[in-house]
Amino acid sequence: MKRLKNSAIIWWTLVALVTVLVGCGTKQGDSNSQPDGRIKVVATNSIIADIVQNIGKDRIALHSIVPVGQDPHEYEPLAEDVRQTERADVIFYNGINLETGGNAWFTKLVKNAHQKKNRDYFAVSDGVDVIYLQGQGDEDQQDPHAWLDLQNGMIYAKNIEKRLAQKDPANREFYHKNLTKYLAKLTKLDKQAQAKFTEIPAEKKLLVTSEGAFKYFSRAYDLPSTYLWEINTEEEGTPDQSIRLIRKLRKTKTPTLFVESSVDDRPMKTVAQDTRIPVAKSKLFTDSIANQGEHGDSYYSMMKWNLDKIAAGLAK
Ligand SMILES: [Zn+2]
Repeated sequence: MKRLKNSAIIWWTLVALVTVLVGCGTKQGDSNSQPDGRIKVVATNSIIADIVQNIGKDRIALHSIVPVGQDPHEYEPLAEDVRQTERADVIFYNGINLETGGNAWFTKLVKNAHQKKNRDYFAVSDGVDVIYLQGQGDEDQQDPHAWLDLQNGMIYAKNIEKRLAQKDPANREFYHKNLTKYLAKLTKLDKQAQAKFTEIPAEKKLLVTSEGAFKYFSRAYDLPSTYLWEINTEEEGTPDQSIRLIRKLRKTKTPTLFVESSVDDRPMKTVAQDTRIPVAKSKLFTDSIANQGEHGDSYYSMMKWNLDKIAAGLAK
């Protein structure tokens, strides 16, 4: 009888223990990490997401918000974006007037998700030498396109590694090893980029795009640039913008005009008709990478693609 009583006590203790353990497991799954232990990471666009993936690889569960080919300046988050942002362990955004400019979609998103700056969400551009817009009245506004300089891309990667290591210290060494390898790859491409445009004659050295996204690129690789509209949050392709660009082009011998993958190409085609300067067939990548499997489907390969296509277009 006594033995029976003891085994009953052991049985009920076991049941209670299992209940507590299962209870803890469920609770943990609902709050901070995935059931498989991976931390939940959100990136605002495909470029940042690709850099994050290069550091975090299979140790993170990543959600990227703005789809490939779409404009990250102005966006309306979907229900899934809101859900992922609410449950994220860490959120990466560009900052410097990208998702926080225009309709400020990111500012609203993180506010509604009760996430806090520099605790839950981090600007990957922290530490970048910021360039300001040139348009009249906009001179106090930051230009967000810092990633188009590979040196800044490396700052992004370092910021991402730092935060992943803080949020998930168990994988600190793994993230650091991935960062080192990734930086070596970007450094090599950056050196090639520095030498890329030296042989193009000065009168042809003008990069013309729809959006004025190439200021950081221009500064880094010594290639002047101009545009139809300065930033995607302003009106795109007005007659005034066309006239201003056409006048400028009359004073140069630029052989090729460019359009970007994430904008309407019609305004630039109008300029091409008027100036008889052709538009390059290959679109440049500025605010998005390409679809998976296509040229430019990572930050590294979009930068390489841009460098190659711009150099080829201006050498004509
Ligand atoms: Zn842009």
